[in-house]
Amino acid sequence: MTRKGDTFNSRAFCCKRQFVKTMENLAKKIDSAQSKDFPALRHSTVSKNFSDRDEQINERKLVCESDSLKLAHAIRLSQGTFETEICCGPESDLHKEYDNCKKDPSHKGFKPFNSFSFYDIPERYRLPIIYDVIRDLAQLTVRIMCTFSSSERPEKMKGEAYPSYKESEGKQCVRYGTGRIFNIINFTEKDDKPCPCSLCKASGQSTFAWCLVEVITARHVVFNDHEARATKCRWGYDSDDCCDITFEGLSSKVSDRIEDDWCKLKCVTHVTALGKLRTFIESFNTKSRELYLQCRSIKQIHKLTVIVSHPHGCPKQISIGYWRQRHHVGGVDTKYTYSSSTCNGSSGAAVYILGRDGKLGLFHQIHSGCKTENGKLNNHSCGVVG
Ligand SMILES: [Zn+2]
Ligand SMILES: [Zn+2]
Repeated sequence: MTRKGDTFNSRAFCCKRQFVKTMENLAKKIDSAQSKDFPALRHSTVSKNFSDRDEQINERKLVCESDSLKLAHAIRLSQGTFETEICCGPESDLHKEYDNCKKDPSHKGFKPFNSFSFYDIPERYRLPIIYDVIRDLAQLTVRIMCTFSSSERPEKMKGEAYPSYKESEGKQCVRYGTGRIFNIINFTEKDDKPCPCSLCKASGQSTFAWCLVEVITARHVVFNDHEARATKCRWGYDSDDCCDITFEGLSSKVSDRIEDDWCKLKCVTHVTALGKLRTFIESFNTKSRELYLQCRSIKQIHKLTVIVSHPHGCPKQISIGYWRQRHHVGGVDTKYTYSSSTCNGSSGAAVYILGRDGKLGLFHQIHSGCKTENGKLNNHSCGVVG
C-alpha cells in the first residue's frame, strides 16, 4: 500500500532531478547563445556573461525608449496649436508623457471618470439632469488611435502648422485623439449584409452578425478614408485594468473645408451585445435636449462647459470649466474658447456647452486645440453643423 507521503516524496525527487537537468541544459544554452536574447531569463544569475549581456540589452532599451520620447516630442512641437498626442515607442510612453506634461503638470483640472461624483460639479449646477448628461457623454467617449498619416495632409492651415504633415515618411508613429459615439446600427443574418471588417475580408468568410458604430471626432485626428482604415476606437477605456472594446475604422465623412475640422467615422465590431451603448445614446439625446429647452433662453448667463477626453492617450477624464468667448467663423458656424482643461490627446473630444448643446441631429463643438492669447492659455473648439 502506498502512503500519500511516499507518493509526494518520490514525485518531489523526480521533479528535483528534472529541475537539475533543465538547469544544466539551460546553462549550456546560455553559453552557446552569445548573440541571442532570452527575455524570460533577463534576471538570471547563472552566467556572468549573460548578466553583462543583459545589462547591455537593458541599456540599449533605455536609449531606444528615450529616442522614441524625443522623436514624439519633436513631432509634437511641429503640430501647431492642435492637441493630438503622438507616440513613437511602446504604449507605456503615453503614461510617461502624462507624468511629464508641461501644459498642466498636476492635471488638476481633470477628474478621472471612475472617481467622478455629483459633488465634482460646481455647486450652482448640481442638478441630477446635468450629472446624467455628463455621465452619458462620458460613456459615449472613445479613445482614437491612428497608425497612418495621409500624404494629403496640408503643411499648414491658415498659416499655422498642421499636425502629422509628412509624418508617414519613414517614421512609425501613432496619433491619439478622442471621439464621441453618436449612433450604432446592428446587422443580423436577416439583413443579409456581410461584415466589412478586415478580418472577415481576409478570411473570405464574413459574419452576418455585426455592428456599425459611428463616432464624431476632429478632421486633424482622422483626415480621410485612408486614415479611417488605420484607426481603432477604444470604448470603455476608463482605467488601465478595465474591460474595453475596440472598434475598427472603416470609412469617414469629413468637413469640406479643412478648417471646419470635423470627421464622422464609421467603425465596425463583431460585438453585437451593445444594448448599454444604445441606452447611453438615447439617454444623452433625450436629456441634453431637455436641458437645452430649459436653458436656451438664459444661455448667456450659463457658461458651463464640459469635456470628456483621453489626455495623453491615457484613461478617460472629465474636465469642467466655462466658455470665455464665442466667435462667428462664417455662416452659422461658431467657435468657442473655454477654461475646461485639455491636453494632447484631447483633440476631437465633444465640447458640451450648457444651453447650446442638445438640439437633436446637430453636433455643436469639437475640441480642436490651444492657443496662447494675451498671455493666457485658451483652449478652443470648432463648430460642427450636420
Ligand atoms: Zn497633460
Ligand atoms: Zn468582420
